Amino acid sequence: MRFIDFFHTGEKPVVSFELFPPKTDLGMRTIRERLLPNLVKHSPSYITVTFGAMGSTQSKTLEIASMVKHEFGIESACHFTCVRSSRSAIDETLSQFRDAGITNIVALRGDPPKGSDTFVAPSDGFAHANELVAHIRATEPSLAPFGLAVAGYPEKHIEAADMDTDIANLKRKVDAGGEVIITQLFYDNAAYFRFVEKVRKAGIKAPVVAGLMPILSSGQIKRITSMCGASIPPDLETKLRTAGDDDDLAEKIGIDQCIAQATELLEKGVPGIHFYVLNKHTHMAEIMDALSL
Ligand code: FAD
Repeated sequence: MRFIDFFHTGEKPVVSFELFPPKTDLGMRTIRERLLPNLVKHSPSYITVTFGAMGSTQSKTLEIASMVKHEFGIESACHFTCVRSSRSAIDETLSQFRDAGITNIVALRGDPPKGSDTFVAPSDGFAHANELVAHIRATEPSLAPFGLAVAGYPEKHIEAADMDTDIANLKRKVDAGGEVIITQLFYDNAAYFRFVEKVRKAGIKAPVVAGLMPILSSGQIKRITSMCGASIPPDLETKLRTAGDDDDLAEKIGIDQCIAQATELLEKGVPGIHFYVLNKHTHMAEIMDALSL
């Protein structure tokens, strides 16, 4: 099934999980033997796998997405970025996805390399995700198009001058063929609701799936939010400050926060929630049980 089909079944909400490819063979074994058997118990509609900047983990993206689909019977998607890829390299990877039976892609630009604020388009490659989306649409067989999701930023992409510009750029991605928008993580639901309102005002009709990342430690959250620009509401920040280095307490705070956010989003009719599960499952069991999902 393609991304958009899940939003047309009438069964709401669409719940999905996101994994990242581990660096080691042991990490791969853990995904196959422990993580996936536990995550699939929650019957997600699909599981997506991120795409790193390094060739070694890129092949694991496809390996895990294939495993999810063919061994665990859950629809999957590969994330795919423009980083360091020429058009011919992009086409080669798209063929590999297709040959492996992958039907969905999360199409992204990717981040600038570590230590740089600017993304430089590879020679004969793409500078923005809308170009990647348009390229995929232009080069794929019309009878078996990929389901394409693109990224949206409730608190604005970190490089964008302002929200309106960022949403105009989001519209380019959707107009080029992105069918579903998955948001960057956020901890303040008000930001998501404001974003959806602006997205609709801009004439974008695609479902806006809320991206939630449960907090697992204070260190993790500082690192991630500084990278992506997501804000931490003051009351959550105070609780996390109190937890300090006590990761068990921070995780408990994170789980409660995620349940509260998801509960409100579900009550207000969000079309889907995409959980950034950070390759762990016990916290997800608590969250999914509390939400009766
Ligand atoms: P774009 O849509 O290209 O936007 C990047 C910036 O350029 C924005 O500021 C935008 O406003 C501006 N812009 C866009 N189009 C134009 C245009 N035509 N002209 C001028 N300006 C423009 N990163 C990874 O490396 N691997 C992953 O697997 C991955 N998965 C992700 C999944 C999700 C759901 C999200 C939200 C992010 C993910 N990221 C991933 C991070 C992502 O690569 C970064 O946020 C990146 O900096 C931007 O990617 P994008 O696709 O949103 O880029």
